[in-house]
Amino acid sequence: MKKCYNTANAAETISLGKRIGALLKPKDVVLLTGDLSAGKTTITKGIGEGLGVTKTINSPTFTIVKEYQGEYRLYHLDLYRLEGLNNDFDLEEYIESDGVCVIEWPHQIEEILPEEYLEVTIKRISELEREIEIIAKGSRYEKVVQQL
Ligand code: ADP
Ligand code: MG
Repeated sequence: MKKCYNTANAAETISLGKRIGALLKPKDVVLLTGDLSAGKTTITKGIGEGLGVTKTINSPTFTIVKEYQGEYRLYHLDLYRLEGLNNDFDLEEYIESDGVCVIEWPHQIEEILPEEYLEVTIKRISELEREIEIIAKGSRYEKVVQQL
């Protein structure tokens, strides 16, 4: 199952993220794909809001992982700079944890991704417009997309 949305500005993308976040549960994994500045971190701000995170979510590009507490724990991963690092990050630990995992640039770690996940692909249409495709991989996420 798949749903597609168009947002006219960052606030609308955050609202969509909030609706997604409100449907997520422990152990859920959300993969975010899209070019630099597409809006992956922006939609994560909304996902965090939907999970009840009150702290401001900022890009984890330089730290790889940032951790937040809402109704559940949220791990926000950005693997853009992963390659340059000496690989002592145990990313599987986050993916297999009881938290919700939101991963930017997930294809860096294809081999440890779960079989089922929610994939959000953001495409830049213009300065302020984005096309956001939300695809369910697996029955758990079919339910999420259905409810969206
Ligand atoms: P990424 O994490 O994909 O590199 P960011 O979310 O950090 O991207 O940056 C997206 C930028 O685009 C932000 O400055 C944001 O304010 C801006 N922007 C403009 N319009 C939108 C929109 N419709 N949705 C998301 N971000 C938008
Ligand atoms: Mg980002």
